[in-house]
Formats: sequence, C-alpha cells, structure tokens
Amino acid sequence: MMDGVIAPERKSWVPSANGHPDFPIQNLPLGVFSPPGKEPRGGIAIGEMIFDIAAALEASVFTGAAREAAEAASAATLNKFLSLPASARRALRSAVADVLDINHKQRPELLHRADECTLHLPVEIGDYTDFFAGIHHATNTGRQFRPDNPLLPNYKYVPVAYHGRASSVVVSGTEVRRPNGQRKPAAETVPSFGPSRNLDFELELGIWMGPGNALGEPIPIAGAAEHIAGFCLLNDWSARDIQGWEYQPLGPFLAKNFATTVSPWIIMPEALAPFRIPQPPRPEGDPQPLAYLWDENDQRSGALAIMLEVLLLSPGMREKGMAPQRISVSNTKYLYWTVAQMVAHHTCGGCNLRPGDLFGSGTISAPTPDGFGSLLEITEGGRKPLALSSGEQRRFLEDGDEVIFRAYCEKDGYPRIGFGECRGIVRPG
Ligand code: MN
Repeated sequence: MMDGVIAPERKSWVPSANGHPDFPIQNLPLGVFSPPGKEPRGGIAIGEMIFDIAAALEASVFTGAAREAAEAASAATLNKFLSLPASARRALRSAVADVLDINHKQRPELLHRADECTLHLPVEIGDYTDFFAGIHHATNTGRQFRPDNPLLPNYKYVPVAYHGRASSVVVSGTEVRRPNGQRKPAAETVPSFGPSRNLDFELELGIWMGPGNALGEPIPIAGAAEHIAGFCLLNDWSARDIQGWEYQPLGPFLAKNFATTVSPWIIMPEALAPFRIPQPPRPEGDPQPLAYLWDENDQRSGALAIMLEVLLLSPGMREKGMAPQRISVSNTKYLYWTVAQMVAHHTCGGCNLRPGDLFGSGTISAPTPDGFGSLLEITEGGRKPLALSSGEQRRFLEDGDEVIFRAYCEKDGYPRIGFGECRGIVRPG
C-alpha cells in the first residue's frame, strides 16, 4: 500500500534530507538514540539529523492516533510501538512527514545531529529466528558437502530455519569478539579448544515482528503483512570451523550464538512499498508451495528489490588510509521464500510470535561470485583466498577487520531509500 509520505516530489525543510542517499523524507525509519548527555529515546532519521519524538510530544505537535503512536515510539525500547497495529505506524509516519515537510513551519529544536548521537538496539528482542531462504547460498554451501545434490530434499517445500540466540544480538558499531570453541579440521582426529580460525559474516535481511499471535493460533499467510513491522540489515557472524564440527544433528549452536549485528534503523514497510516486486517464478520443475504457504497477493507483490553491499575495511587498508573495499553486491530478490511465507510457516504449528521478535532471512547470495554473501562462498571454504586492494589476502576474517553492510532501493521516479549501515569490527578472542 502506498501512503502519502512516499510521494516522490515531497521535500523537507531539513536541508540534508533532500537528495540524501538513505534518509529522505520518504523513508522516516525509526530507531532509539541518545542525544549528547541524555537518556535513550525513540527517534526518526531525516537526512543527517534525528527527529526527537519525545521532544515533539512535549511540544504537542501530534494529535489523535499519531499522538498515541508517538508516545509508544518515544520510549527507550520500541516493543510497545511494534505491538500496535499497522494503522498506528502509518499515523505516526504521516504526522512526522507533515512536521518535516517543506511547507511546515521549521522546528529545528526537535532535531539532533545524528553524528553527535549514540544509536542503540531499538528493541528488546524476545526471540530471534534465522531462516535459510537465500537459495544461491543454500546451493553454494550444500555443494561444498554434497557436490551432486547440494539442496536437501526439503528445501523447496519448507522455509528452513533454526531458533537463534536473542541475547547476543547487538547494534551496528558494537565490537565482535572472536569466539572460542571446539575446532576439528578434517585432517585432525580430535578437536582442540581455541579461537575460531574460520570466522565469517553472513549478509542477511533482518525482519522485525509487529503485533504477535496467541499461542496455538497460526497467522495465515494472507494476514502476515499485518505482523511485519519493519526491516534492517543483519550480520549473522559465523565461526565455520566450530559450525562444521558441532552442527550435526541439531544445527547451529556456538558457531553463531556469540554475536549477531543489526543496523539501528527500522525501515518501515510503507517506505519500501514502491520497491515491492512479484516473487520471482520458481524454476521449471520446482514444486508449488503447499497451500498454507501460497497467497496470490503475496506472489504478486510480496518480494522486495533491495540492493545489498558488503564492504571490508582491513587493518592494512586502515593503515594506508584506504576506503573500505566493496567485496559483494547482492539483492533481496534472490530469496526463495517471501517474508510472509516465513511468518506463515513459523506459526503454522501454533508458535506465538511477539512484538520485537527478529527474523534473519538467511544469507542472500547472488547467483554469481561477485554477489556471494559470505566468505565461505567467496573463498570456497578458504581454498581460494580473496585478494584485497591493500595487498592483503583473506580466507576468513582476521582480527581488526571491519565488515560493513549497506542496503538501498532505487527506482526511476523515486528518491533512493537506504537502510544506513550495519558494521562490526573483529577483536581478538
Ligand atoms: Mn544465517
């Protein structure tokens, strides 16, 4: 659904918003921030500034449904806001756009310079689930174990996932310590304990849950959109050596529970409306999804065209004053399952989702090596090192490496909508 905020001709009195690559007035993502010396509170990114929702409430700029939504959105965690129906989110978005519109009286006292503020994890995350919906990633990694039959037989029927760890989800900019664990390379007969030697990133779309469902009451796919409150970037840091040894038979554990990084801004579904696309048709011969995963409307417009980039800033680049090197470009259109299908599947057995729960999409790799979403794929499990512009090489991540994800949507006739960055630097274990 397109709201009035997204109108491409709309401009703001905040000068840096107009033409901003991530945060024009059409985006208005929600986050939690601290102005210098002040407590965390809800805010909205606009150009190089952050709109202070608590300050706006004090100045009585909102009325009616927008005021109620703003009260929830001004808090230090956004769970209450996420529990509200989509109509409340739209009311807030519309009211904030009106205040920031170029035809409105300027209210610079409601803004803070983003570069002077601290951004926080926007939500107290109850549960985190990581899917495996990037079919090229699933194929590439499966091929390393099963060259003739990379995808397991369930892949095209089941939106495969595991339950991840919510306590170690951190906001962009948080340092990530290399985990210790059991490593057992193929050439060794018994495992040893120590720092992971094969630390990797995974490029994923994060999905924030809005209103939940009662235990035992599945969310039908046609109603899934009401439960999807926003999107972010997500780095599912992965220790491949620990993973390879521990993962059978119950799946990932310590290889992934040490850290997951998310970008700070919750990009609302309304901001992404112009960039919805049909779910790409399944290749000839693939099964039709089962009925509970099939919805005509979802197939018509349930996928997203979001460009995704991975950049690496190594110690060698930093020493030489070089910019981060872009090592991959992918797109959310390579997901085999839509987000609505993930929601319908997650709840089909009665599992209850709660406001602020987080999904990871699974690693999103493009079909070609210039768009692979992990080093496991880019370096073929470490066998083909990646040559960096600084003269360094990488099989996997080294201490001091910073991984940076960016995402944006572009379409003729629309301002570019960006996600901001998802960054994390690797520190020794
Ligand atoms: Mn993952």
